Order: sequence, then C-alpha cells, then structure tokens
Amino acid sequence: MLAQLGSEAKLLAGGQSLLPLMKLRFANPAHLVDLNFVPGTSYVKQEGNRLRLGALTCHADIEDSPAAAAIPILHDCAAGIADVQIRNRGTIGGSVAEADPSGDWAPVLLTLDTEIRCLGPKGERSIPIAKFFLDAYTSALGPDELIREITVSVPPKGSGGAYVAFKRSAPVYASASAAVRLTVEGDICRDAAIFLGAVGLTPVHAVEAEAALRNNQITPKSMEAAAEAARAAADPQPDMRGSAEYKRQLVAALVRRAIEAALRRARGERVQLSHLYA
Ligand SMILES: Cc1cc2nc3c(=O)[nH]c(=O)nc-3n(C[C@H](O)[C@H](O)[C@H](O)COP(=O)(O)OP(=O)(O)OC[C@H]3O[C@@H](n4cnc5c(N)ncnc54)[C@H](O)[C@@H]3O)c2cc1C
Repeated sequence: MLAQLGSEAKLLAGGQSLLPLMKLRFANPAHLVDLNFVPGTSYVKQEGNRLRLGALTCHADIEDSPAAAAIPILHDCAAGIADVQIRNRGTIGGSVAEADPSGDWAPVLLTLDTEIRCLGPKGERSIPIAKFFLDAYTSALGPDELIREITVSVPPKGSGGAYVAFKRSAPVYASASAAVRLTVEGDICRDAAIFLGAVGLTPVHAVEAEAALRNNQITPKSMEAAAEAARAAADPQPDMRGSAEYKRQLVAALVRRAIEAALRRARGERVQLSHLYA
C-alpha cells in the first residue's frame, strides 16, 4: 500500500508520535496505512541467543515480557517511557522509525548487537543499528519500507547493562539519558558500550568514555574519567529542559549511575533501576 500511495501516505502504529504531530499540523498525510490490522506483528521471543521483537510490540508488553527480562536494560527502557497510556499504545517499531533525538529506545539498542529488519517492495533487508540513525527524525529506512522486526543478541556471560534518564515528569521526554553495557572478567572490564540520549541530533556514542573503562579495573577514578569523557562528548541544545551546560552535568551524573548499576548486574546482582524525576 505504501508503494501504491506514494509519499502522501504514512504508516500508523501506536500513533503516539504521529497523531500529536498531525494535531499540531506538523504532519498532514493524505493517507494513513494502519499497521494494527496486520496480524502477528506483536511478540517478544527468544530464538537461540537472539531476542526477536515484533515492530508492533508496545512498550508495556516489553516491560512485562519474561523473555525481555533476560536483558534488563530493555526493561529499564520500556518501563520508563512516559506513562501507562503511552506505554500501552506506543510501539518499539514506531519509536525506532521516528528517530526522535529524545527517544529512549535508540541509545539502549545501540549498546546491544541490534539489527533492524525491514520489509519493502524489493523484499527484506537487515540494517545494523549503528547504520540506522542518520540525523534527527531521519533514518536509513526507505520511503516505501517498514520495520518488521528488531532483533537483539543476548550479551555474553559477564555482561550487564543499565539505562537511566532524567525526566521533569513522567509523561515527558528525557532531559538527558545514558545507556551503558559492560562485559567484565573478574575485576577487569573487557568491553564497554556507552550511548547518550537527548544530548545530540542522534544518540551520542561516548567513545572516550568507553576507552576510560575498557581493559581497566572499574574504580571510582575510572568511573569519574568515563563520566567526564561523556560530559565532553555530549552536544546538547539549550531548551525548556535546561541549558546546554546543565545537560552536560546531568549526563555525567547519569553515566556514573548507569555504570554502577551495569557493573552490579554484570556481577550477577539483581538491580531494580528507575529513572530520576525532578
Ligand atoms: C506525551 C508523550 C510522551 C512521550 N514520552 C516519551 C518518552 O519519554 N520516551 C520515548 O521514547 N517516547 C516517548 N513518547 C513517544 C512514544 O514512545 C511513541 O510510542 C513512539 O515514539 C512512537 O511509537 P508509535 O507506535 O506510537 O508510532 P506512531 O506514532 O504510530 O508512528 C511514528 C512514526 O513512525 C512511523 N512508523 C510507525 N511504525 C512503523 C514501522 N513499523 N515501520 C516504519 N515506520 C513506522 C510512522 O509512519 C510515523 O512516522 C511519548 C509520546 C507522547 C505522546
């Protein structure tokens, strides 16, 4: 239908981003192609070492999924998106397709080995998440393509991840957020992935922050170095959520918290994590 209707058509999933834009007249599609009528598009299942999430799976179903619980950072993210109504309607596929710089899923999925499986008139293709987000609200998805499924590999033994955002209240986007995945061997951090949300046009890959941890012991000093490097990597815009400097400070604190929680999880502890609210 998308191919037939052309650029005047928009896909509709949960409508939690598209409908507000239509109400504000920022989007005015001539046709809506409602994906909710397509059966078998909402699921969370583990196959081998990969978790498969149907594009129409709503945030609340991921929050409650025993399969997704195997990767706690997914629960951190799903459980913290806005409020119950939005989590019951909004979908992971719609959220990723929207490529909103303040969206919660992008930084989280970037810390994991994630593939975006797309479907279009020419068939299926899989896009590694690192190549998916091109700019604010712009992804590698073609105009006649849709996201069919998102797959994530279960991180290796000794891994732990955590996602923490700072929000002014529940039903608003984060002022800043930090997603961290660590893989440890004894006292040494063998691998680290750190992505920052809402402090750039796309999620910011905090490469220097990762380098401060990788092949080192995680100590208060190395955590501080990682937090400082994240602060330097952030590229926030001042807006109603705060000044650029405030968001940089915030991101450093969030990275510290996320590293602490990820480390405890990597060591096998069960850690309940919640976003910070003003
Ligand atoms: C008040 C409010 C607060 C919110 N707070 C947060 C928050 O804190 N964090 C957060 O991450 N999100 C937040 N959201 C957004 C919410 O998570 C949405 O669910 C999400 O952004 C879009 O998902 P959707 O299913 O509603 O998509 P829709 O609104 O239906 O679609 C969004 C866009 O994606 C396209 N699309 C949808 N599905 C597909 C698909 N399968 N393939 C290709 N394109 C597709 C649509 O054409 C449209 O362009 C908030 C929304 C509201 C209204």
